[in-house]
Amino acid sequence: MADYEYDIGIIGGGAAGLTVASGAAQLGAKTLLIEKEEALGGDCLHYGCVPSKTLIKTAHVYHLMNNGPKFGLPSITPPPVDFREVAGRIKSVINGIQKHDSVERFCRLGAQVEFGDPVFTDEHTVALGGRTISARSWVIATGSSAAIPPIEGLEATPYLTNRNLFSLDTLPGSMIILGGGPIAVEMAQAFCRLGTRVTVIQRSGQILGKEDRDMADIVQQELEREGVAFRMNASVTRVSDLGHGRQVIMTNAAGETETLEAEVLMVAVGRTPNVTGIGLEKIDIAYTHQGIEVNRYLRTRHKHIYAAGDVIGGYQFTHVAGYEGGVVVSNAIFHLPKKTDYTYVPWCTYSHPELASIGMNEKSAEKAGIEYSVWSEEFSGNDRALAEGESIGRIKLLLDRKEKPLGIQILGPRAGDLLSEWVAIMNGGVRLTKIAASIHPYPTLGEINKRVVGSVFSPKIFSKTVRKGLTFFFSFKGRACICGTDVECGKETP
Ligand SMILES: Cc1cc2nc3c(=O)[nH]c(=O)nc-3n(C[C@H](O)[C@H](O)[C@H](O)COP(=O)(O)OP(=O)(O)OC[C@H]3O[C@@H](n4cnc5c(N)ncnc54)[C@H](O)[C@@H]3O)c2cc1C
Repeated sequence: MADYEYDIGIIGGGAAGLTVASGAAQLGAKTLLIEKEEALGGDCLHYGCVPSKTLIKTAHVYHLMNNGPKFGLPSITPPPVDFREVAGRIKSVINGIQKHDSVERFCRLGAQVEFGDPVFTDEHTVALGGRTISARSWVIATGSSAAIPPIEGLEATPYLTNRNLFSLDTLPGSMIILGGGPIAVEMAQAFCRLGTRVTVIQRSGQILGKEDRDMADIVQQELEREGVAFRMNASVTRVSDLGHGRQVIMTNAAGETETLEAEVLMVAVGRTPNVTGIGLEKIDIAYTHQGIEVNRYLRTRHKHIYAAGDVIGGYQFTHVAGYEGGVVVSNAIFHLPKKTDYTYVPWCTYSHPELASIGMNEKSAEKAGIEYSVWSEEFSGNDRALAEGESIGRIKLLLDRKEKPLGIQILGPRAGDLLSEWVAIMNGGVRLTKIAASIHPYPTLGEINKRVVGSVFSPKIFSKTVRKGLTFFFSFKGRACICGTDVECGKETP
């Protein structure tokens, strides 16, 4: 058997690569992790989840400061935002989390970390900084970058992406965002709340295209109510640099040419896999614009070379990258064959209200030709939501013909956290009767989870047949109060 320096080599120190490195090293495999940036952590820590969620929180606090009267507080006008302070807070949160992803920590676990730009020279070897390193297995976990669309003038026009957005020196007075996906939506609301005039240009007629239309439309309405402008069904034909700002020429929904100007332009039209510069062609690893091609064991066409995380396309989330890292550990280190299963992948867009999902929504159920029923409850019927001033949103439960849950969408306050109960229900195959019979603390937002399940059962429990049966067996006397005779009941408020 050939003698390799390492049992496993990992290229990319983000969510996927770090999961493999820590798992493999702790299991006793001689592990090498190679990262091209100066620090570990990947996009999520430095340019993605962490900075964006930190910015969203800051923007939320500023939004609350501007909305005191909504909570019975005096009206105040806080001073304008100094973005250097905001960027400073973002940096300090990143630095705090960085400690978990430090070279020292990985060394303690047993993994060797190297920095540089590795290039495959053969199927077991990479060249790195003038030397060659061999490993029995390799994992490509190089992540993704902002996709840059081929728009005339874009190359010559300065623009922002998630790489430079969080370290701006000043808050832009105005911003045009190309794209209407989760990153665009989250950043549009956050910057709008901080005081930037934001316009979102979206190619299709719906933001958050994977979500059901009714849910995505409510998010859009909320953003519009707060001041974000949308140009839907629009196609950008040209952009240019005006020096003091950027100009975007587009064809709007009515087919007219429209010219927009803003201080900054942000591009958020999707992600492109980081597949160049590592010699994939040399070792004949296939990839498309969506990512490296892998089978369900996350193997490339070479049995000992795996790929995981954003670089394989699919569900581009940190938790999925981590999950895929675990699958690689199982296959490459334990040699226990494990296939990926994406049936119950949860995700959340951290707009306000948040929009969280697991399993199928109406769109995907229709596409799959699955018969379903929809059960929903509004947050306006949840006592805690009302107390918190958070009445916008709903939960939608999709059931199959046997009343087994197909999926859940929650649009509302803390929807991402509320979804966790459903992560357990769906993965554990918990029967809905168990949820209906469970006790949830009052008053919590989570009661909506039980309530939507209750809406499935209550028509059956309180049906005419059941009432008739009980009346017959126990000689019940029936209604004690008749609306219109005893009391003018009026209409029940929803
Ligand atoms: C603005 C934004 C917000 C996001 N918010 C969320 C969120 O709230 N929740 C969520 O789940 N996901 C979120 N994501 C997605 C999440 O960041 C990614 O899904 C996740 O980082 C993917 O992990 P990964 O390991 O595949 O890639 P990455 O984390 O990007 O790691 C890849 C690593 O490989 C390194 N690398 C690249 N090329 C090479 C090379 N040639 N040699 C060596 N190293 C290399 C990179 O420097 C990087 O460190 C967000 C993304 C963005 C952009």
